[in-house]
Amino acid sequence: MANKRVLITGAAGFLGSHLCDRFLAEGYDVVGMDNLITGDLKNIEHLFKVKEFEFYHNDVSKFIHVPGDIDYILHFASPASPIDYLKIPIQTLKVGSLGIHNCLGLARVKNARVLIASTSEVYGDPMVHPQTEEYWGNVNPVGPRGVYDEAKRFQEAMTMAYHTFHGLETRIVRIFNTYGPRMRLNDGRVLPAFIGQALRGEDLTMFGDGSQTRSFCYVSDLIDGIYRLLLSDYAQPVNIGNPDEISIREFGEEIIKLTGTNQKLISKPLPKDDPKQRKPDISKAKAILGWEPKVSREEGLKITFDYFKSLSPEELNKTAHRFD
Ligand code: UDP
Repeated sequence: MANKRVLITGAAGFLGSHLCDRFLAEGYDVVGMDNLITGDLKNIEHLFKVKEFEFYHNDVSKFIHVPGDIDYILHFASPASPIDYLKIPIQTLKVGSLGIHNCLGLARVKNARVLIASTSEVYGDPMVHPQTEEYWGNVNPVGPRGVYDEAKRFQEAMTMAYHTFHGLETRIVRIFNTYGPRMRLNDGRVLPAFIGQALRGEDLTMFGDGSQTRSFCYVSDLIDGIYRLLLSDYAQPVNIGNPDEISIREFGEEIIKLTGTNQKLISKPLPKDDPKQRKPDISKAKAILGWEPKVSREEGLKITFDYFKSLSPEELNKTAHRFD
């Protein structure tokens, strides 16, 4: 029997590339697609010799054509860090709207199941803590994060419409902050920013007083949750993330300790609409998927630090953050 075949958009990105690895390891044929605006071929170059892997350099916001059968489509193409979607706001809106429309249209033709990457950003600056899937969120549509948050909210609505109107099989994962190897060092996110700064001997730029919280999930845990959700029969949104919440100040202190540097945390202005707190309620993932995170922050940070340390000095110096 032929292998099942999965299309992964955003395949050259941080999460997309880890998904390619996982599906190949599970015995699928994988078609990766990416327009390489924020993705990097380096993340998937180890797959170019794998015969079960093919790659299309293509923009999913334009019409997509993939010959042959497709069983599953995972839509992971999107800028995903505040610095990226401030730089490319229109593409961010297009990939969440036109991009998902193309994926859903392709899925109907191929009779494929679609899983979309949604985000904890649909909850905005949340008034409910921890965030359950039933919470509708507190999003500023015209603020700097609006282009991402509303694209992802539209994407959920469009996906649900294809599910209810066309009977398409769909899955929605709401991803909370995730980290691990292949994160882009210059994407402006707190973890690569802090580790990059520590490695270059700079002070760590903490935004605001650092009292805002996040909950960081190691990438292999997240990928496992997504894999289980895809194969489940649950069409409503599911939070996947690690509920181990920490303030950004404490997080910075952990990075300083881990990297063994003498740098300090210095305070920079808090960006507009920066959520004050974020922590997933993962009761649904536990009950429906039998999933919970296994990798502690200590373990995950160590692996991630070793990855960043192994990068060349040129790559390390490419790092830019919002105050450059
Ligand atoms: N942050 C920070 N210093 C940095 C980058 C980010 O203190 O150099 C803060 C940011 O203001 C936010 C948190 O770290 O409160 C997480 O930011 P990130 O961009 O990683 O993701 P977010 O969860 O805000 O989308």
